Amino acid sequence: MKPAAFDYVAPRTVREAVEALGAGRDAHVLAGGQSLILEMRLRRARPEVVVDINRVPGLGRLSVDGGTLRVGALVRHDAFEAAGAVPGPLGTLFSLAVVTIAHPPIRSRGTMVGSLAWGHPASEWCAVAVAMDAVLELRGSGGAREVAAGGFFHGPFQTARRPDELVTAVRFPLPGADTGAGFAEHRRTHFCFAQVAVAATLTVRGGLVAEARIGLVNAADRPVRARAAERALLGAEVVLPPAGHRLPGGHPFARAGEIAATADAAPVAEPYAGVDYKRHAVAVLVGRALRQAAEDQRSRAAVHRGGHR
Ligand SMILES: Cc1cc2nc3c(=O)[nH]c(=O)nc-3n(C[C@H](O)[C@H](O)[C@H](O)COP(=O)(O)OP(=O)(O)OC[C@H]3O[C@@H](n4cnc5c(N)ncnc54)[C@H](O)[C@@H]3O)c2cc1C
Repeated sequence: MKPAAFDYVAPRTVREAVEALGAGRDAHVLAGGQSLILEMRLRRARPEVVVDINRVPGLGRLSVDGGTLRVGALVRHDAFEAAGAVPGPLGTLFSLAVVTIAHPPIRSRGTMVGSLAWGHPASEWCAVAVAMDAVLELRGSGGAREVAAGGFFHGPFQTARRPDELVTAVRFPLPGADTGAGFAEHRRTHFCFAQVAVAATLTVRGGLVAEARIGLVNAADRPVRARAAERALLGAEVVLPPAGHRLPGGHPFARAGEIAATADAAPVAEPYAGVDYKRHAVAVLVGRALRQAAEDQRSRAAVHRGGHR
């Protein structure tokens, strides 16, 4: 189907974009267009005005400032596929998550910030953003403000963004070398959205978990942090079963998975995934993501020790 008629504007500055969004008409931002155009063609979205931000300079910038990574509104998904695009464990987490998003042509146009602004309940970037305490930068007619990812998502496709606001960037704190990252996802086919996805990091000191971060998507009506599971992991000894062996039932990672499934997740049934199925997926995937994070942390620590001999 063709989209309903709409006006098109292509601002050259953030200020012009914000003016177009705040002009009193139903205006939608066009970033990568990988969700918006489809919604318009299906006529589920009928914007009066499309505000194409692709000609606004500076929005495609990816930068590291001290301990913070800043991702501009036009940084495409595939920017995170290259090794070393983002330093340290955050780069590992991004590279694990990004390859699960759609397929290469979509990743070459779609943007991380667009995914967050869209607020799809199964978006991988949303799991990463809540797990890592990302902060979104917004600019509207009332000025600039920041919203923590933990408070940004209000429900499926519902966010704290006001209609006249442009999300200009998202910032992530960069974890140190004592942290490892893991990502696990289950979906029906390679090109489907996730039925459940889990982003996790573990910080290990002296063989014990000093900090755990777990973000879940499609495990509730919005991206959530598995806080109860994270608390249960604090102080746990990190002992990994040999490669190829499952986590034993009483293992702290398996227990954290069970806690996440029962205490943190509040799944919504979908046609191919009922509530019990999703809870089971959360339990398994949290265990897998934590194990991968612990293995990543271990190899990172080995490299670090080697470098200091
Ligand atoms: C076949 C297919 C499979 C896909 N599979 C996945 C998947 O597995 N996982 C996944 O996460 N995504 C998936 N996607 C979606 C894809 O990742 C999109 O790129 C992403 O959801 C939106 O990013 P975009 O830059 O394309 O945004 P657009 O399509 O341009 O915009 C999406 C929405 O967000 C708003 N928006 C975008 N940027 C901003 C901004 N800076 N400020 C304010 N509002 C903004 C727009 O107004 C619009 O309402 C898939 C898409 C397709 C077509």
